[in-house]
Amino acid sequence: MSEENNMERREFLRKSAVLGLGGLALSSLPGIITDTRAASIGGGDYFTLPALPYSYDALEPFIDRMTMEIHHSKHHQAYVTNLNKALANDKAAPTDITELCRTIHDGNFALRNNGGGHFNHSFFWKLLKPPVGKDPMQACPPPPAGKLSEAIISTFGTVDAFKLKFEDRAKSVFGSGWCWLIVNDVYKLEITTSSNQDNPLMLFSPSKGVPVLALDVWEHAYYLKHQNLRMDYVKDWWQVVNWEEAEKLYVAGKQK
Ligand code: MN
Repeated sequence: MSEENNMERREFLRKSAVLGLGGLALSSLPGIITDTRAASIGGGDYFTLPALPYSYDALEPFIDRMTMEIHHSKHHQAYVTNLNKALANDKAAPTDITELCRTIHDGNFALRNNGGGHFNHSFFWKLLKPPVGKDPMQACPPPPAGKLSEAIISTFGTVDAFKLKFEDRAKSVFGSGWCWLIVNDVYKLEITTSSNQDNPLMLFSPSKGVPVLALDVWEHAYYLKHQNLRMDYVKDWWQVVNWEEAEKLYVAGKQK
């Protein structure tokens, strides 16, 4: 590890301690993000596009097949390709994508945009699952009873109140970005947003913590089906949220 990286690492740990984030071992997000740069550095690809745990049409009719295919095979692939290019001459960069996000310097746009893009999309896919039914008018399944559901109700009053607040924040993202539910630095649930491919793991993020839910509000995530109607997309997204994975992340985030 270079001296510069050592200094950044020390600075990161110092800031983490100040923020109470020292114990948040985000690299241990269980079963969610396990992507680690190939050990054999010196050529070839470091990170690879993860396979989706469902087919491209599995989220129909709420998220359409063509959007999923282009989003995964073109957009996400481009972040992976450009991340690998950025890492080709940077042998000191962390080998774990979560750690990479945590330690990126805000001025390193190649790693910030493409490392963030790879983490965010890997995370996003894992937090989706096929809908319970295919009726476009069906009621959204609520989060199952559990620690996360309890915390949502104690923090926001009701699940519906939480969803309204989340939708408001998703609507408020100007241009391209993400809306997140996180366990923040004081171990509370918080809704936050990020621009471009930034995320709440990054040191310079205005709200930091362990992500529990992520919603991609870039137009490429919804424009083919929902055109300019971002709120219709958000309402459809609730139908395909993988609450079981979110519960695991919440429990892990609270324990760290
Ligand atoms: Mn995207």
